[in-house]
Amino acid sequence: MFDQIECFYRPGTVREALRLLGRGRGRGRIVAGATDIVTQADRSTRFLVDITHLGLDYIRRSGKGYAIGATATMAALEDSPAIRALAGGILAKAASTCGSIQNRNMATVGGNLVNASPAADTAIVLLVLDALVVITTARGRRKIPLSQFFLGPHNSAAAGALLVEVVIPALPRGGRTGWSFQKLGRTETDISLVSAAAGLQADSKGTIKWARLALGAVGPTPLRARNAESLLAGKQLDEDLLKRVGEAVMQEVRPIGDIRASAEYRREMSGVLTRRAVRECAAQAGVAIA
Ligand SMILES: Cc1cc2nc3c(=O)[nH]c(=O)nc-3n(C[C@H](O)[C@H](O)[C@H](O)COP(=O)(O)OP(=O)(O)OC[C@H]3O[C@@H](n4cnc5c(N)ncnc54)[C@H](O)[C@@H]3O)c2cc1C
Repeated sequence: MFDQIECFYRPGTVREALRLLGRGRGRGRIVAGATDIVTQADRSTRFLVDITHLGLDYIRRSGKGYAIGATATMAALEDSPAIRALAGGILAKAASTCGSIQNRNMATVGGNLVNASPAADTAIVLLVLDALVVITTARGRRKIPLSQFFLGPHNSAAAGALLVEVVIPALPRGGRTGWSFQKLGRTETDISLVSAAAGLQADSKGTIKWARLALGAVGPTPLRARNAESLLAGKQLDEDLLKRVGEAVMQEVRPIGDIRASAEYRREMSGVLTRRAVRECAAQAGVAIA
């Protein structure tokens, strides 16, 4: 419940937003689409700073990659031809599952990351895309890899700062690539019980050059499954390897049980979704599974 709010600000520049937040000595809070904040209780907040008029809703090329402003909405991501064409469209696909269309019209990519839910759907996709985030305070800007951004449930490196941009670097060139986003929820647009994202690249002989795997809702933060990734690198794909990769993921995750699913079910499904994701990547990359 936000029942102690005295002011609602809608600044027009990042500088003004930072000035307002700095003046509040911790009593101000950023609001973007408000789809997460509206479900949270915070009686210490005295004023809200709406960041949706800062000009941060862009999606544009940046070098050979992309720069996405923090207030780009899920609807904008799912509708963007550039994002639909990027990496098999997995970011557009993840965005398209973030709740109802009403929710997606409001929900922002910055809010999805800073809210730092272990189940945040764009987070796992951006992890496999090796994305970075740009955060800013009155003292300056810094760019950090998304893999270092999540510190715990609802705790991120953006605490006290404004996340202004998500940077997706150029995708690796050469070889054949495949990408996948898999989500298991009560319905397709419900919050994930378990989610998985994957990317891989194979050479002309079908040997995997690199693989990236990320899982959601199975640990305190969205996570990269590095042990499972290293099992795939340098190998030809067969059913036995696929099984071992699924088992490695089940070892790496740290799920909890809650109202939506038991820890055991989440662990089991993390293996299942990983195998599905790797199969989809292999099919896209034209890699046969022996
Ligand atoms: C019905 C419903 C269904 C949903 N389904 C899904 C789903 O399927 N998958 C999913 O991933 N999420 C889902 N969500 C969660 C939510 O919609 C997303 O996490 C959304 O992207 C949050 O963005 P927002 O702009 O609404 O954030 P807000 O609610 O405005 O903010 C969330 C938090 O981030 C902070 N914040 C926001 N932007 C910034 C910024 N740029 N810099 C610093 N701090 C910032 C705010 O202070 C707040 O603490 C659902 C929510 C609802 C209500």
